[in-house]
Amino acid sequence: MIHVKNVFKEYLQNKKRSGVLGLFKDLFSTEKRVIKAVTNISFDISQGEIVGYIGPNGAGKSTTIKMLAGILTPTAGEILIDNVTPFKDRKRFFKKIGVMFGQKSQLWWDLAVIESYNLLAMIYDVDPKDYQERLKIIYEYLGIEPLMHLPVRKLSLGQRVICDLAAIFIHNPKVVFLDEPTIGLDVSVKHKIQMFIKLMNEKYSTTFILTTHDLSEIEKLCERVFLIDEGVIIFSGTVDDMKDYFCQEKGHIIVEFKNEVPQDQVNKLSNFFEQSVQIKPNKYRFIYNKETEELGKLISKMNVCGDLKDIQVLSNNIEEIIREFYEKKGVEKIV
Ligand code: ADP
Ligand code: MG
Repeated sequence: MIHVKNVFKEYLQNKKRSGVLGLFKDLFSTEKRVIKAVTNISFDISQGEIVGYIGPNGAGKSTTIKMLAGILTPTAGEILIDNVTPFKDRKRFFKKIGVMFGQKSQLWWDLAVIESYNLLAMIYDVDPKDYQERLKIIYEYLGIEPLMHLPVRKLSLGQRVICDLAAIFIHNPKVVFLDEPTIGLDVSVKHKIQMFIKLMNEKYSTTFILTTHDLSEIEKLCERVFLIDEGVIIFSGTVDDMKDYFCQEKGHIIVEFKNEVPQDQVNKLSNFFEQSVQIKPNKYRFIYNKETEELGKLISKMNVCGDLKDIQVLSNNIEEIIREFYEKKGVEKIV
């Protein structure tokens, strides 16, 4: 259903110079800075899967979702959603998907919720019988019938997000992208959203990708998880695999070298570890077995492959590591 192959996304940003003189210079020339938001990501997702996409702030989650949803064009690579390339064939594409960004509403601010829904049903050319069927499910499971005649601006955050979520399903999309759907919501609203995702998934075999900060949400909903860090997918597997990946016996380190490591040395490096992922030409994420390897010895071995600049040791309590992973703090620096 979702096919992503060697996808890259770079943003070009104007370089800002400091001071009054810098401001003046900026008026005349715009030096560009390249931001590598997503680097060489590939994955496939089958129909009916619910996949969690998690990573720290700035990791590239929203960029990925926007590319999948056809809002952004990748710098390179291939994306197919139900055999359609999102940014090329918009007309065929937009009926296949639903997308929601937690902090942004796609409903019309001053219209009553039901008027927004009616408009969406028209735009997506939904069969009136199907529309009524879906409204019935939405009312039954989300309990929003009493809100239908209120303008969106009068809804609380939780009510608004639930109405936004329901809106996605009016045209019964095959694939749904949810970017932080439950951020900042209380437990009961979160629960409602999770229950509804599960229900739509079971009823219509809808495929979901969701980004979230909430590990328990992933455990409840997702069969598979992708972890993304600095634009690179560093792990993909089941939730159980993820727990294994972060288990007590495994040590996780992020190693930065002063310079790019030559290829023959990279090969050598990867032999020292159970798993190695390159984050940047001079930066790697390694996993080693704590029971059979000593970090001190590994450090000396690595220093032969290239001059070390920095090593971060990550903790391996899963809750903690996910939190660290998000907050990028509590990381012990040893070099
Ligand atoms: P996430 O959703 O995981 O927090 P994003 O995909 O929003 O991450 O951002 C990934 C990287 O791309 C960040 O470094 C961010 O600052 C940068 N970025 C995102 N959008 C833009 C943009 N429109 N222009 C320039 N840089 C951007
Ligand atoms: Mg984001």
